[in-house]
Amino acid sequence: MKVTILGTGGALPPPRRAQTGLLIEKADDLLLIDCGSGVLLRLQEAGVDFARIDDVLLTHHHLDHLSDLLPLLVARWLRGKTHTRIYGPEGTEALLRAQLELFPYAREHVSLSVEELAPGKSFEIAGFRVEALLTRHHHPTLAYKLDRAFVFSADTAPMEEMAAFARGCELLVHECSFPDGVEVPNHSTPSALGEALKTCDVQRLVLTHLYPQTQGREEEMLRAVRERVSGEVLLAQDLGMWEL
Ligand SMILES: [Zn+2]
Ligand SMILES: [Zn+2]
Repeated sequence: MKVTILGTGGALPPPRRAQTGLLIEKADDLLLIDCGSGVLLRLQEAGVDFARIDDVLLTHHHLDHLSDLLPLLVARWLRGKTHTRIYGPEGTEALLRAQLELFPYAREHVSLSVEELAPGKSFEIAGFRVEALLTRHHHPTLAYKLDRAFVFSADTAPMEEMAAFARGCELLVHECSFPDGVEVPNHSTPSALGEALKTCDVQRLVLTHLYPQTQGREEEMLRAVRERVSGEVLLAQDLGMWEL
């Protein structure tokens, strides 16, 4: 499995960070998780043909996780692929149908199948075994585990359930939106995140979903997490890639 982090910025992204998107590949299987602003550009930079992205998995319905989705659907249509399968939490189908209603030229050419996922269950999606966990965030938001090897936290306050969910995985990509002292509800900061993940025992933890307040405080953030979590701890960069 190959994991590429396309975008590593939050709703207010710092320079050189697109909003959230992750590309997961395994042989010919390919899955896009989230599609925030800038992800279309990063997909191009990663050399990924839009026509190959038949499956998109959404964590939740905040704009920084899906604002490039309609543009992706149109780009796929222009590449000759009119059908896309979308997966996400409850409400995903109504949201996407309502969005498409606003753009009749797109609606006429794009077809969707939407599957809404329930937390606590597992699903077969695009060749991956996907498990979902409800996070602590504004909307119904799902973290995902793929093939028992990779976990993406989505947006969330630190939660010990995430440590159990990710335990033993090779790679955990977790949001850490702000440095210590900038406490924003429903998001993570390094010391509290490290405490919550103390027992997670992942080989590598990558911090993402960064806001401008993290600039210049990267080393301090890493130190706070490394003091509490075993395994390698890194800060994400756009187009960072890991082979599992
Ligand atoms: Zn977000
Ligand atoms: Zn969010």
